[in-house]
Amino acid sequence: MLQNIKNNTRETSQLKKDGPYYKPIAKEVETFEHSYLQKLPFLLKGPTGTGKSRFIEYMAHRLDQKLITVSCHEETSSTDLIGRYIIKGAETVWLDGPLTTAVKTGAILYLDEIAEARPDVIVAIHSLTDHRRELFIDKLGETVRAHPDFMLVASFNPGYQRGFKELKPSTRQRFVAVSFHYPEARSEAVILVNETGISEGDAKKLVNIANKIRNLTELGLAETVSTRLLVDAAKLIGSGLSKRLAVHVAVVEPLTDDVEVITALNDLCDLMI
Ligand code: ADP
Repeated sequence: MLQNIKNNTRETSQLKKDGPYYKPIAKEVETFEHSYLQKLPFLLKGPTGTGKSRFIEYMAHRLDQKLITVSCHEETSSTDLIGRYIIKGAETVWLDGPLTTAVKTGAILYLDEIAEARPDVIVAIHSLTDHRRELFIDKLGETVRAHPDFMLVASFNPGYQRGFKELKPSTRQRFVAVSFHYPEARSEAVILVNETGISEGDAKKLVNIANKIRNLTELGLAETVSTRLLVDAAKLIGSGLSKRLAVHVAVVEPLTDDVEVITALNDLCDLMI
C-alpha cells in the first residue's frame, strides 16, 4: 500500500507542474501521505493565511484525489453537509450534501474552520472519524459506509486571543494534527517569489516588515501579518503599485482600524521598504 502511495507520488510529481504551488515547511507532506494511507482524519491547526488550504489543495493533487471544500461558518449545520430534500416541480427529491458526496465517491472532504460550524456538524462526523467509517443519514434512515478513498480533513484556528471558538478535546482527539505557523524568513521569501514573481530583494523586505510587526505583541492585534497578506502586497507591487502604498493597503490596513496604530505601522513600514 505504501508503495502505491510512493508510486502515486512519483507519478503525480510530473503533474505538479500544473498543480497548486506549495512549499513544504516541515514534515507535513510525509505526515499527510501516511495519514491518507491509514485514512486517519487530519487536522490542520494554525492562524489564518499560513497555507493550510493551499496545503490540502496541493496534497489532493499530489495524491490524485478529488477535493471537496466546505468553508464552515456559524450557520453551517449537519443538514448542509449531509443533504436535504428539495422541491423540484411537483416532487421532493433528495440532494446529497458535500459530506455525503465525498463519503460515497471517495473524495477528500476539507472542513475549513470546523470550530465555526454548529455543534451538530461535529456529531454528524463522529462515526466517520473512528473505525466505523460510516455516515448516518437520519432523514433517509440510511447508513452509508465510506468509500475506501474517503478522507476527512479539517482546519482550526487555535486563536490564542479572545473571540476564537475552541474545539473540544474529545473532537480534537479524533484527528492526527499538524500545526501551521508563519514560515521562517527564507522560506517565506521563496514563497513570495514563487507566488508572485516579485524580486528576491523586495520579497525579503516584505518578510522583514512582517516579522517586525509579528514581534510587536504589545499592539494586541487579534491576528498578525499572515503570508497571505504578504502575497497580496507582493502582487500589488508586481502590478505596478508603489511599494509603500502596497504595504499600507495590503499589510497594515487589514490588521487594524485603530488610526494611531495604522499611522505608526505605516511609518515603520515606510522606513523598511
Ligand atoms: P489558510 O488556509 O491557512 O488561511 P491559505 O492556504 O489560503 O491559508 O494561504 C494563503 C496564501 O499564502 C496562499 O494563497 C499562498 O499564496 C500563500 N502560502 C502560504 N503558505 C504557503 C506555502 N507553504 N507554500 C505556498 N504558498 C503558501
